[in-house]
Amino acid sequence: MTIKAVPLATWPTPLEPAMRLAGAIGLEELWVKRDDLTGLGGGGNKVRKLQYTCAQAVEAGATGVVTTGAPQSNHARLTAAAAARLGLSCTLVLAGTAPEAMRGNLLLDELAGARIVWAGTDPLAEVAAAQDGYVIPFGGTNAVSAQGYVDCAKELLTQLPDLDTVVVALGSGGTMAGLVAQLGPERVLGVDVGALPDPRATVAGLLDEMLAPAESGMWAAGGTETGAVSESLRIDSGQVGAGYATVTEPVRAAMRLAARTEGIFLDPTYTGRAMAGLCAAKPRGKVVFLHTGGLPGLLA
Ligand SMILES: *Cc1c(COP(=O)(O)O)cnc(C)c1O
Repeated sequence: MTIKAVPLATWPTPLEPAMRLAGAIGLEELWVKRDDLTGLGGGGNKVRKLQYTCAQAVEAGATGVVTTGAPQSNHARLTAAAAARLGLSCTLVLAGTAPEAMRGNLLLDELAGARIVWAGTDPLAEVAAAQDGYVIPFGGTNAVSAQGYVDCAKELLTQLPDLDTVVVALGSGGTMAGLVAQLGPERVLGVDVGALPDPRATVAGLLDEMLAPAESGMWAAGGTETGAVSESLRIDSGQVGAGYATVTEPVRAAMRLAARTEGIFLDPTYTGRAMAGLCAAKPRGKVVFLHTGGLPGLLA
């Protein structure tokens, strides 16, 4: 499969040492991959995936895109920004009803000119299918857009060839799947945020599609089967707490620690959970924390 991408930012993103945070957690070596600095629309991991989904939309001849999410979806905000950049219209189908004030990501959605449709309690995908435009899936994730994180893993291997572990938040699963496709399952720790019913199955399914037999992926060469792939994934499911929209005490502590040792702000839904998972796992060797963005959600 030939996969095209439209450029939406300047690459590579920086990889920065985080010595004070490493010392506070008790790690030998910690680096932060700044995918919160992906340029477009306030930045974040969704930009790398949108380079592929937007390319698909343009190739399909679309004049507008439609996507879905929670009211404070970073993916929705970045889809609005990408659409603006590409001259496409954008419709965002969001869960629930309009709040009294447009804060955080919602404020940015509106600034970028997105049309917002409040779905109430209706299934988001159904409401999205009824809109005019090319539908980009939940979280921007499919087996094509996950290639954006194969790209990121390649950057990382250039920046830190002998890295041991990358820690990342696991939402819709595309980010983790892309990293695992390139780095293998042992070097990626996904910290589940509680957005999917079965995150392990979703990531394994994406990998299955990405590493189709004809591809020369590192596993495909060995003919690995999906069951084995699924079992080998490293997933921390201990940071979900009472659910996606809640904040746990370890997450609060991790957010304070990162801000007070490195001046790095994390959000309570994704990157705060990933950092709490990193603190709990204390991986050995050269550890990379993938900062996936999300700051606007903190300000909502
Ligand atoms: C969406 C998101 C993630 C998770 O990425 P997925 O590819 O959906 O798993 C992590 N961090 C932030 C800030 C996000 O917005």
